[in-house]
Amino acid sequence: MKKTLFLSPPTFDGYDGGAGSRYQCKREVKSFWYPTWLAQLAALVPGSKLIDAPARGLQLDALLPLASEYEFLVIYTSTPSFRNDVKVAEAFKAKNPALLIGFCGSHVAVNNEASIQASPAIDFVCDVEFDFAIKEIAEGRPLPEVLGITILKDGAPHFTGKRPVIEDMDSLPWVTPIYKEHLVTTDYYNGYMLHPYMSLYTGRGCKSHCTFCLWPQTISGHRYRTRSIPNIAAEIKWARDNFPEIKEFFFDDDTLTDNIPQVEALARELGKLGVTWSCNAKANVPYDTLKVMRENGLRLLLVGYESGNQNILNNIKKGILVTKARQFTKDCHELGILIHGTFIVGLPGETLDTIEESIRYAQELDPKTIQVSLPAAYPGTFLYNQAMENGWLAPDKADHLVDDHGVQNSVIEYPHLTSAQIFDAVDRFYKRFYFRPRKMASLFFDMCRDWQVMKRQLREGVEFFRFLWGRENAA
Ligand code: SF4
Repeated sequence: MKKTLFLSPPTFDGYDGGAGSRYQCKREVKSFWYPTWLAQLAALVPGSKLIDAPARGLQLDALLPLASEYEFLVIYTSTPSFRNDVKVAEAFKAKNPALLIGFCGSHVAVNNEASIQASPAIDFVCDVEFDFAIKEIAEGRPLPEVLGITILKDGAPHFTGKRPVIEDMDSLPWVTPIYKEHLVTTDYYNGYMLHPYMSLYTGRGCKSHCTFCLWPQTISGHRYRTRSIPNIAAEIKWARDNFPEIKEFFFDDDTLTDNIPQVEALARELGKLGVTWSCNAKANVPYDTLKVMRENGLRLLLVGYESGNQNILNNIKKGILVTKARQFTKDCHELGILIHGTFIVGLPGETLDTIEESIRYAQELDPKTIQVSLPAAYPGTFLYNQAMENGWLAPDKADHLVDDHGVQNSVIEYPHLTSAQIFDAVDRFYKRFYFRPRKMASLFFDMCRDWQVMKRQLREGVEFFRFLWGRENAA
């Protein structure tokens, strides 16, 4: 095996752009997802090292001395951070010219030719599902013989060919022992999860075709492939016993509830283990399934509502009726399942009126917490192509999804709705949702019940106000 370093590279301060973040940016409150995609690689390469620089607060200077200690460096990159990550690769290569450097992630999978030509420091870039390609390279297989990568051949980009999609998800070794060896669990925050939490996947892919959604359209696909229940339960049991500090496990599959029999069976096993858990869900889970989940330790669902306007939901191919989402939310409230609802302002079809409709819809649904985002038009998505074809995304803005501090930029605009109006609406949405007497009283009540919750929510409250303040000044 080559001596291998897996790196979530250093970038903007507080930037949640590691190998587990779907939409890379600095968030309203400090957040970091576990770098699960890189941990999966590290689990396949015995003796390797995983460093999550943003979560650890490590800068390039602190990492460069490692360049000479390794033979192989794998960098997980993203569209907003790609230029920064290339500079990191160049700095490593300058220190150790013999270092083999590969990039992985959706950005290089969809822009393989431009990416391999971005710098002589990059020896190859990966296609989608790169796990076993990286393993073969670490084992010493010559690059031209490894399927699923792009290299330079006679000075021109050369794709070595498609790899078969992974069907046996149990063939992927567990990531939690890698977390144990290389990560610090208290580095990972999320405004709506208990702290410290732990996220991992039980499968890849999502059946839905939401036009803005990055992973299913690039690296995970539209077929939901899952690990077996005994395999998942055994890993959670191991993690429960080896991380006594973890208060909650988060199953970060694109949509864990896509496979109802599987999620019910998983819930029953988790119930036996006595763990608290949460997951991503679409707003269409039947009551009986929610009940099984709740009775077996489910605490919270992360639900992408996106908009309260049915036409917009249809425009983005969400495959959800607002009537269904209302019923689902009512069911969750009845069962005591908390919801972190995510919304996007500025999707195709948006107007000032539909923004107002979404704000009222969010107030009516009243999830525990919300996240309001700008549309992130990532290369490789239907939304990106649609925006480019219709002139909604100016070419000079396509490269600037985040600003100089890593905060998401408003890059999409329509003839009837400017990017500034969309940007302002995020602020308005948050204020109208949170600054209601009922919501503030409920958050205050939570704080009073638990000193740890109070400390945390006060810190997050300060961060949140700073974030809003920064947005107002930037507007
Ligand atoms: S349901 Fe969620 S994960 Fe699936 S495509 Fe839509 S936004 Fe993405």
